[in-house]
Amino acid sequence: MLSNDAKAMINYVNAILTNKKLNNDIPEIAEGDADFLELEQSLRTIKNWEKINKDSEERHRLMTENACDIIATVDLSGNFTYISPSVEKITGYTPTEVIRHYREIGYFLPGVQKEMDRQRERIKTMVEKGERFDAINFEQRQVRKDGTSIYTDTVLSGIYDEEDKFRELLAISRDITEKVKIRKKIIELSETDKLTMLCNRMKLDYTLELELCRAKAKASTFSLIMIDIDDFKQINDRFGHLAGDLVLFELAKLFKATIRAADLIGRWGGEEFLLILPDTDGLAAMALAETIRQRVNEKHFLEQEHISISLGVAVFSDDDTVHSIIYRADQALYQAKKTGKNQVCQM
Ligand code: GH3
Ligand code: MG
Ligand code: MG
Repeated sequence: MLSNDAKAMINYVNAILTNKKLNNDIPEIAEGDADFLELEQSLRTIKNWEKINKDSEERHRLMTENACDIIATVDLSGNFTYISPSVEKITGYTPTEVIRHYREIGYFLPGVQKEMDRQRERIKTMVEKGERFDAINFEQRQVRKDGTSIYTDTVLSGIYDEEDKFRELLAISRDITEKVKIRKKIIELSETDKLTMLCNRMKLDYTLELELCRAKAKASTFSLIMIDIDDFKQINDRFGHLAGDLVLFELAKLFKATIRAADLIGRWGGEEFLLILPDTDGLAAMALAETIRQRVNEKHFLEQEHISISLGVAVFSDDDTVHSIIYRADQALYQAKKTGKNQVCQM
């Protein structure tokens, strides 16, 4: 049988361990005992740490569960080991669906999946060599469970333990669909001519540069058609500048309705337009130019006015620069004007 003093001491220690009556007085017998006081202090310190750890775990759990971002951990074989519940709100898929079947459900688009697998292999090799890798940041389009598209921005980094040993990959993804939409709108506006709603000179310059590089790299071809309205000053003089603007707008609509999906028409300046025709030789370009010219002839502008246009065609040649091909299209247009207008010339 334990003595009452011993029982009192056990009860006291037990109270500390079970978080009960922590402010109990120390049993009389142990009051002045240095060993007991030390034991008591150690127990209180341990209990305190326990509480801090528990609070911190709870905090982390609440943070990941309530985060707007998708927080996921992935092992080096490409298996999700955790994904936060926020994934359902953003993608429509439950955490279980993603963790178990992310490849089958096409959580990532095929191209992205392939690139991710490639990156993971690269990281795996680095980890095996004991090297650290830099965090990767990428944007991607993802298809939600309901079939709609979203855009996400992901930061992929490594989780390391206290000994600096690699544990897992950490992926934090943010839904940036609205941001991407606004960005696209801004780009579109910056590339659009406000009067005709065709693309503007900046976009034409940029596309022409690209087309030239593409034709050289792929040994393909393309053509340009430069268009200028005949005697447009007279339209302005007779009907006013606003009516002239309306003619430009109507003409732009006609151009858009006549060209093919791959072609690009833009306002080169004032009442001049440039048409870029990818993979199009001189013959096809001349034919399209002639079709456009005829359609303009047939159309009524400002209710009953007829206008005509002159067109200059230039076809890509291997030693062309942006400047040289534009120069030829310009010269062809000049030729068309000089020799009677309302016609197509090629240089
Ligand atoms: P040409 O057959 O030789 O081309 O004769 P043109 O009268 O069309 O002469 P030109 O091409 O040199 O002049 C273009 C005119 O187009 C001059 C300018 O007032 C008018 N113009 C240019 N930009 C605009 C515009 O945005 N709105 C209107 N209404 N007119 C414009
Ligand atoms: Mg002009
Ligand atoms: Mg003109």
